[in-house]
Amino acid sequence: MTGISDSFNRPINYLRISVTDRCNLRCVYCMPADGINPLPHGDILSYEEVSLIARSAAELGIKKVRITGGEPLVRANLSNLVRMLSEIKEINDLSLTTNGVLLSAQARELKAAGIKRVNISLDSLRPERFHKITRAGKLEDVLQGIRAAGAAGFNPVKINMVVMRGINDDELIDFARKTLEEGWHVRFIEFMPVGEKQQEAGERFIPISEIMGRIESLGALEPYILDGNGPAKYFRLPQARGTIGFISPVSEHFCFKCNRLRLSAEGKLLPCLLSDAEMDLRGPLRRGASVDEIKLLLGQAIAAKPQGHKLEVGTTRNNRNMCQIGG
Ligand code: SAM
Repeated sequence: MTGISDSFNRPINYLRISVTDRCNLRCVYCMPADGINPLPHGDILSYEEVSLIARSAAELGIKKVRITGGEPLVRANLSNLVRMLSEIKEINDLSLTTNGVLLSAQARELKAAGIKRVNISLDSLRPERFHKITRAGKLEDVLQGIRAAGAAGFNPVKINMVVMRGINDDELIDFARKTLEEGWHVRFIEFMPVGEKQQEAGERFIPISEIMGRIESLGALEPYILDGNGPAKYFRLPQARGTIGFISPVSEHFCFKCNRLRLSAEGKLLPCLLSDAEMDLRGPLRRGASVDEIKLLLGQAIAAKPQGHKLEVGTTRNNRNMCQIGG
């Protein structure tokens, strides 16, 4: 079979795989202050199990895979998994989302293993504020990671900033300037109400329309095609080498073209980021399910994919924080 669609005729071809719920940062909007109760190691899917699920998904029509977390680079020997996934011939786009802290040491190895694209999350360019938001991190580590990703040949490296009113929105212009001065590809993401942070999201939320308006004080934004048909809309400032992307999951959702499934570190398949529905794959796998049996389950999860999220009526995901999903 070469492709699969859900009950709303959306082709499903993208799987985001979380390889751990652990993280070396504690970002205020992603994780509770005292962290989460990490999954026992035995509950986390092994690389062989992840790879079997990915193979089953690929046989159904998944072509894009993104590795995420928690922080994926804290999982030991991640490049082993990358190599296993690279061997699945149907998967033609293998990418990674990371906070970048450990990237300078791993960028070359990950590239050699088969990662094609890297997104790095970064919410402040000010060392003290960065430390405050992440409750742990050193900005310089991430900046080194960004440089190492470029040096390893990743292009474009995308920098994702979650914009939060009163926390980092006074840095929008500084981030946008990086597209002029250093050729960064920056993406501004609306703050989503997920898990514990639902209440706070209301007061912190800034719609993309307002963010764009503020950036335009630097010059007119020209539409730009950076790649594919993902959720971001790209633009460029006059004379910029880099681009600016806007992702609006809340104010202008893109559920109508959602092509993704998510796999959590403990083997739950999540058909929608913002709904609590999930299907266990680890149990069947550990009882010896074959690729064909996993394909059947994936098919059921795809059929159950909701038409869209229901943020506008106040319904969102309650059962997990973002670090337990992978974003
Ligand atoms: N640790 C990796 C990282 O930092 O990129 C991967 C996991 S992290 C959960 C993935 C992405 O989700 C990050 O870009 C993070 O900023 C984003 N994220 C987490 N909570 C969010 C929220 N409430 N709204 C919007 N984005 C969020």
